[in-house]
Amino acid sequence: GGPATAILRTVDLTKDFRGFTAVNSVNLEVADNTIHALVGPNGAGKTTLFNLLTGFLQPSSGQILLRGDDIAGKQPEQIAHLGVARSFQITSLFDEMTLIEHLELALASPTGLGYKFWTSRKQLGQFKARAMELLDQVGLADRAGVRAGSLAYGQKRALEIALALANDPSLLLLDEPTAGMGLEDVDRTIELVKKVSGGRAVVFVDHNMHVVGSLADRVTVLQSGEVLAEGTYERVRSDERVITAYLGE
Ligand code: ADP
Repeated sequence: GGPATAILRTVDLTKDFRGFTAVNSVNLEVADNTIHALVGPNGAGKTTLFNLLTGFLQPSSGQILLRGDDIAGKQPEQIAHLGVARSFQITSLFDEMTLIEHLELALASPTGLGYKFWTSRKQLGQFKARAMELLDQVGLADRAGVRAGSLAYGQKRALEIALALANDPSLLLLDEPTAGMGLEDVDRTIELVKKVSGGRAVVFVDHNMHVVGSLADRVTVLQSGEVLAEGTYERVRSDERVITAYLGE
């Protein structure tokens, strides 16, 4: 009940690297069922923040509340198990494996972070129907049997999103979903993110302001590890400090 509940809230989240503060007392609030953009100049701390949220880095101090429970200090597998999934900017695909095999493996893994033991082809077969559903969702159903290595760049990025959806996360983190894409793929990705955001919260990092403006219900602007501005796209884009931060890049 009450006004939009926060699925994610960080409290004074801080990460120091030997005296250098990459994330400095960040208070981020992401409402459930919303799309939230994280923007800021290079070095602002966006990647570090994603690494903290997913347990790939441990915070120096502060809290990470997922539906009110502090997950700071948990391992990536535990956080994934709690419903947080991340699609990587750097490709994590196997060129020789088919698309459906990628999805079957992701579905066979309890955390989506990879499987720890040998899984037989027969065991994987039980995931076929769900794997096809996920491929269909990202527009790749007709490519199910082809090797990932033969996909075009935009299709690889769509496959990565499908993989992140395998465990039906309640919080989906997308690291620069449109990086390196041409206009057509950018627009396709905007539609895809809108489509897969239903029933969950999405936090994404992107440098393309057309993408941010098209997708984000809320925008948090980081600079030098600190929150510079937060609000709707319209509000933050006209914020003097934000304009200055970007001009100074
Ligand atoms: P962004 O993703 O916004 O470009 P990053 O989170 O990658 O920013 O980096 C924020 C700052 O933290 C940068 O100055 C970067 O050099 C520094 N940084 C990131 N990771 C490390 C690390 N492992 N050790 C030391 N400094 C780091």
